[in-house]
Amino acid sequence: MSKTTIDGRELVRGIAISKAWVLEENQSVFKTRLNLEAVDTRIERFQFALRETQIELMKIRNYTEDRVGTPQAAIFDAHMMVIDDPVFVQAIESRIQSGIDPVEAMDDWRKSSQTKLSHMNDYLKVRSADVDDITIRIARHLVGTRTFDATQVNEEIIFVAEKLTPSFIASLNPEFVKGIIVAEASPFAHATMLAQAMGIPLMQVDRPDFLRIKHGASVIIDTEASLVIVNPDADDIRAFKSRRDAYIQSLETLQSLKDKETRTQDNVDINLMMNVNELSALNHYEEVGAEGIGLVRSEFLFNGDKNLSNEETQVDLYRSILKSVHENNVVTIRILDYGGDKRFIHDDEVEDNPFLGTRGTRYLFKHIDLLLTQLRALFRASVHGNLQILFPFVTTVDELKDILRIVDQVKTELKEEAHPFDNDVKIGVMIETPGAALMAGEFAEMCDFLSVGTNDLSQYMFAADRTNARVAKYNDAANPAMLKIIKHVLEQGKNADTPVCVCGDVASNTLMIPILVGLGVRHLSMDHTHILKSRQQISRLSVTSVEKLAQHAVECTGGEQVRLLVKDFINHL
Ligand code: PEP
Ligand code: MG
Repeated sequence: MSKTTIDGRELVRGIAISKAWVLEENQSVFKTRLNLEAVDTRIERFQFALRETQIELMKIRNYTEDRVGTPQAAIFDAHMMVIDDPVFVQAIESRIQSGIDPVEAMDDWRKSSQTKLSHMNDYLKVRSADVDDITIRIARHLVGTRTFDATQVNEEIIFVAEKLTPSFIASLNPEFVKGIIVAEASPFAHATMLAQAMGIPLMQVDRPDFLRIKHGASVIIDTEASLVIVNPDADDIRAFKSRRDAYIQSLETLQSLKDKETRTQDNVDINLMMNVNELSALNHYEEVGAEGIGLVRSEFLFNGDKNLSNEETQVDLYRSILKSVHENNVVTIRILDYGGDKRFIHDDEVEDNPFLGTRGTRYLFKHIDLLLTQLRALFRASVHGNLQILFPFVTTVDELKDILRIVDQVKTELKEEAHPFDNDVKIGVMIETPGAALMAGEFAEMCDFLSVGTNDLSQYMFAADRTNARVAKYNDAANPAMLKIIKHVLEQGKNADTPVCVCGDVASNTLMIPILVGLGVRHLSMDHTHILKSRQQISRLSVTSVEKLAQHAVECTGGEQVRLLVKDFINHL
C-alpha cells in the first residue's frame, strides 16, 4: 500500500494515528421513492416519520446533554423546533397532496432551504448541515432505513466523511474516535463546535484528496503540521510520535496559562476577552481563562427563532449568559446586527447594496420594536451581572444621540413599571466605518466605551466586500491605512478616558497582536480557541519594543511590508 501525503486545514486541533473508517454518503436516501398511491397513506407515513424523528432527536438531545453539555444539546432543540413548526409541516404536506413523493418533498424543502442559506453570511450559511441533518433523519424514517449508529463503534478509528451532521458527531465516543477527516466543513458549523467540545481532532481536506483515503487504511491526522498521511511508513510513524509528544507538551504549557494574568514582560496588563457567537462557546469560558466577554453577536443566538420578539425569552437568555461568567467580569452584548449579509429573519427587504444599506443600528431604527424589546430585556437582565450594551454599525453622531435618547426612554419605562435594573449599564458603539473612526473623539465623549470592528472597518476602508473572495487581497487589516485609523481611534479614546476594545478577527492574529498592543490596545476580544495562545504571545512582548514596532509599521507602505516587519520581530523575540 503506497503512502499518500495530503494537505489539510485544521478545524479542531489535535494529532492522532488510527485506521480509516470511510462513511458512505448519506444523502443517497433522497434517491429512494416510496411509490405509495393514496395521498392519505403518504401523509400518514410522513406523520409517522416526524414522530419517530422527534423521539430519536429527544434521545440524542439528552445523550448530548449528559455527555457534552447543555449548550451543545440546545442544537437539537433547534432541530426539534423545525419539526414542530406548522409552516414546515404544511409546506411538506401540501407538496405531498399535490402528488409529489414524500421523500422528494423532503428533498425539495432541503434544497430550497439551502439555497436561501447560501445567500447568508458564513455563520448562517453553515446551518445547511443542520438542514441536512434533520431532512436525512426524516427521510430515513420515511424509507425505513436505519441511520448508521456510531455509538456501536468499539475500536479506535478515524472517521472519513464527505460532510458531517451535528447529530452524528454528538453520537461519537471520543474514547474510540481519534479523529475526523471531512471534505466539506466550516469552523462555524455546529458539527465543528461539537467536535471541539468533545476534543476530537477535525481536519478538512480537498475533495480529490479525500477520495484517496480508503476504508481500513492506516492514517495519521496532524493538525499541527496541517497534514494527513495515509499508509505512513516507519519513519513517518517515528516522526509522528515525537510530534505528538511535543504537541502534548505544548498543550500542557498553554493550559498552565489558564489562570494567569495576561501581562507583558514590562508588566502591562492586557484584558483578553471572548467573543460569543453560539451559547455553546460559554462552556469554554473557564477552560481558557477568559477575562470577560467583549462581544456577544446576539443576532446569532436566535437562529431565526420566531420567539425573538418575546421579551421574557430574551430576559432568560441574557440572564443565563450573565450568570455563566465570574461576577466581576464584563459581558458585552451587542444589539442585533441585521442587514449586510445577515438576513435571517425579517428578510423581506432586499437592497441592491446591503452592506451600504439599512444595516445595524439603521435597521433597528426602522424596526424600532425589535430594538425596544431587546433593550428592555437587556436592562431587565442587567441585575444578574456586569452587562455592557454595544450598538453595531453606528455611522454618525446623530445616530448615537438617538440611541442614548431611546436608552433613556427604556429606562424611564422600566422604572415606571417597577422592573429592577442596573442604572449604570455601560453603553458603547462599534467603530466599523472610516466616518465613525474619524469621529471617534465625539463618540468617546458621549458613550462609555468603543469597540473597533476591524472586519467591517477594513471592508469599508478599502471598498472591498468582506464576503467577496475576488477582492479579498484588498481587504487587508495589516495595511498601514488601517493601523493609522486604529491609532487615531485609540488616541481619541484615551483623550476622553473611554476604553477602546478591538473585537474583529485581527484581535487574535499573531502577526497583528504585537502591533495592536504597540498602538495602545489594552482590550482584545476573540474566539475562545485563540485566548491561551494570545496570552502566551503577549507574555513574551514588552510594550516598549512593540511601540517601536507599531511606529515602524505605521510608516510602511503596504500590508505585506508590515507582515514581514512583524515576522522579523517575532523571530527575534
Ligand atoms: C467586525 O465587524 O469586526 C465585528 C466584530 O462584527 P461582525 O464581524 O459581527 O460584523
Ligand atoms: Mg461588524
